[in-house]
Amino acid sequence: MAVSRLPRPLAPYAADPERSRGRRHPEPPPSWRNEFQRDRDRIVHSSAFRRLEYKTQVFVNHEGDLFRTRLTHTLEVCQIARTIARALDLNEDLTEAITLAHDLGHTPFGHAGQDALNACMRDHGGFEHNLQSLRVVDELEQRYAEFDGLNLCWETREGILKHCSRLNACHLGTLGERFITRTQPGLEAQLANLADEIAYNSHDVDDGLRAELIDIDELRELELTGRLLREVETACPRLPLRRMLYEMVRGMIGSQVADVLESTRVAIGEHEPDSIDSVRELGTPLIRFSDAMNAAHKELKQFLFHALYRHHRVYRMAEKAKRTVTDLYQAFFDDPALMPPQHARRTRELALAQDNDGRARGVADYIAGMTDRYAILEHQRLFDPQRLT
Ligand code: MG
Repeated sequence: MAVSRLPRPLAPYAADPERSRGRRHPEPPPSWRNEFQRDRDRIVHSSAFRRLEYKTQVFVNHEGDLFRTRLTHTLEVCQIARTIARALDLNEDLTEAITLAHDLGHTPFGHAGQDALNACMRDHGGFEHNLQSLRVVDELEQRYAEFDGLNLCWETREGILKHCSRLNACHLGTLGERFITRTQPGLEAQLANLADEIAYNSHDVDDGLRAELIDIDELRELELTGRLLREVETACPRLPLRRMLYEMVRGMIGSQVADVLESTRVAIGEHEPDSIDSVRELGTPLIRFSDAMNAAHKELKQFLFHALYRHHRVYRMAEKAKRTVTDLYQAFFDDPALMPPQHARRTRELALAQDNDGRARGVADYIAGMTDRYAILEHQRLFDPQRLT
């Protein structure tokens, strides 16, 4: 069946900017855009968004120019999610805003950086990149006269907060409720979550092949990539290997998107939600893979974990990154005056209110905001006696 390329009226269970739960600080409505478009624009204009360009996805930024960065990952998630949103008559503007913001809280050096910062913060509430994304848009961006943060709509913030411990959820008001009642967010938020997984599973295979950390024969053994490779080889037997692999990665995204569309339509048909609130009351997400795709997806994830994320080369770089973050944290926590004056001042204010927890949070905010190359430079400035500034 051909799908209309033009946006159609929204489904009754889609988020409606006219019926948003509002912003933390009330503002007059925008003149030429809807509320979710305004959120998207604020995110794109934020400093945290620009920093995504120089933050690691899997490969540290300077390892090669063709690997994904947080920014290109973010754009791929956004593009996949918008396609699905439009096909399901969901709110494409909100989907775009959520996906563009979903990784704003990531530390430098990807998961290695987050793990290191979380370990440093063990006695001070921990560090979680997802919660940090919310902190970026709620507090840390300081560019508007009337409020701290970007003052985004409740629905955008709901989508940014993908997961959260019950303890943290208790401090987040209505936004944290679903983690206590174990209910669901709106469909645009569910979609952003799944599109993230579709994007990174597919592009990590692509990047892993490019870095020669993954072997094509290993991919033949897996359900999804094995099937796609056989299909491409049968249809175009003389295709050069590189193009064959591109076709496979393209097929990975296409078949996962097709599967989500079909399974989600069935789930919506079964539950017949008539509003975004009836979606939120459900115990399980409606945006979903089929059982077969779920199994194939999990298999791929496990394969990537061992073959790529635990690969000797990636592992060595990750351990180096952890040491860099840990050194920075310890130096700044011991003496916040080593940080640039505005961060030192903010950390002092946080420490006045919350003692060592506040001091640790101020240091974590500074480190989490760094790009890979800035963190490396700060480390040299602090620990390399040859370096003067
Ligand atoms: Mg992501």
